[in-house]
Amino acid sequence: MIATLLVGMLCVYLLSFTVMFLLISRRLHGEKMGMDAFAVGNLTLGMAYVLQLLEEPAGLSWMSVINHSLTLCSLLAYCVGGARFFGRSTPLLWPLIGVAVGYGVVQVVVDAAWGSVARYSMLAATCALCFVGMVGMLLYGARTFARDLRGEVLLFALLISGICVLNIIKLSKLLSGGLAALSMDGQFQMVFYVYMCSLATILPPSIVWLVLRRLTDALRNMAARDPLTQLLNRRGLTEALDVSFQRPNSRARLLLIDVDHFKRINDDYGHHVGDAVLCGVAEALRGAVRKDDLVCRLGGEEFAAICMGADDAAALRVAERVRSTIEQKVMLQGPRYEGLRCTVTVGISDCFGDEKSLDRAMQAADAALYRGKEAGRNRVEWALPVADGLLSSDRPRKVAEAALP
Ligand code: GH3
Ligand code: MG
Ligand code: MG
Repeated sequence: MIATLLVGMLCVYLLSFTVMFLLISRRLHGEKMGMDAFAVGNLTLGMAYVLQLLEEPAGLSWMSVINHSLTLCSLLAYCVGGARFFGRSTPLLWPLIGVAVGYGVVQVVVDAAWGSVARYSMLAATCALCFVGMVGMLLYGARTFARDLRGEVLLFALLISGICVLNIIKLSKLLSGGLAALSMDGQFQMVFYVYMCSLATILPPSIVWLVLRRLTDALRNMAARDPLTQLLNRRGLTEALDVSFQRPNSRARLLLIDVDHFKRINDDYGHHVGDAVLCGVAEALRGAVRKDDLVCRLGGEEFAAICMGADDAAALRVAERVRSTIEQKVMLQGPRYEGLRCTVTVGISDCFGDEKSLDRAMQAADAALYRGKEAGRNRVEWALPVADGLLSSDRPRKVAEAALP
């Protein structure tokens, strides 16, 4: 009676989460994060337990054969759901049909040749093997592709290990005690159903939590990045700078980088070529700065780099590298683009020590940039006034001399 109640509860859990997963998957246009496959997993397992409730005593019957096939199909669907969640496009329908039909045939053959105990033992052994594979994959994922979800992945591995152990015990009981070991009100089956109910209570909300985490991370990323170049935008830069300045004694310099005569590129080659050039500038910029520096697209053809902990000489070296890398590397393939030339002018701010001074640094670098444009473009210019009294035009030369090996 209690066992029937537990299995009934299990069916309700599994089938109601099927509906919830389906609703979530319909809301997720495009990238469904495996929710459709998880829904199929819950549906097939839920149906398997419904059949278990309706089934006569253990033995060969069409209900029992379908029940076993559905159980195995649910494991396959959960694995596919996991793979899809981590971005692998894995097929579901045909493998599912293959497993359902193939395992159904194998069951009939095994039952006819060795009896029902062999068929039930085969299910327990196959499930245990699948669970070992899942746990292995989750442990591997916790160290590699799922490092950002380490806690959750390890919890899943622990819970699945439990059901794996229970299947191994079930196998040994079947082999030693025959089908009597599967009596629904037996002590072992009771433990099995309680554990399954706990899994059905913990796992589906955890999967919903994982999807929520991925969605909020994606939203935060979208709010902080420029969609064209994938560099930080102004908002992302402010947030990243806030984190960088939490390190003690952090000082920074701002490089303001503006593409020269960009309007001409748009006018001569079209807006889409302009976009490609902006992506090229972003890539060159990423490659030219140092590891801890921050790069951002402020808007239009204007970029910024924050050189963390850079003194005059280091900031100048980075600015000069940015200028020359863009001049040499940003070009497009094809005869149509032979005349296309992309250069930038860079304005360098004075040193600043907190995120609130960003606006001031921006104004100073902008003034320097303006002077650079006036002086002929494709050059690096310093902010005025400078603490040591050097004029802007003197300072790069003097610092550059000091920076030479
Ligand atoms: P200067 O050397 O003085 O900086 O001249 P400029 O032509 O680079 O500067 P200006 O401000 O006159 O032109 C900037 C152009 O950038 C105008 C605008 O149409 C274009 N632009 C802004 N955002 C984008 C974008 O996302 N894609 C493309 N292709 N063009 C953009
Ligand atoms: Mg410009
Ligand atoms: Mg501009």
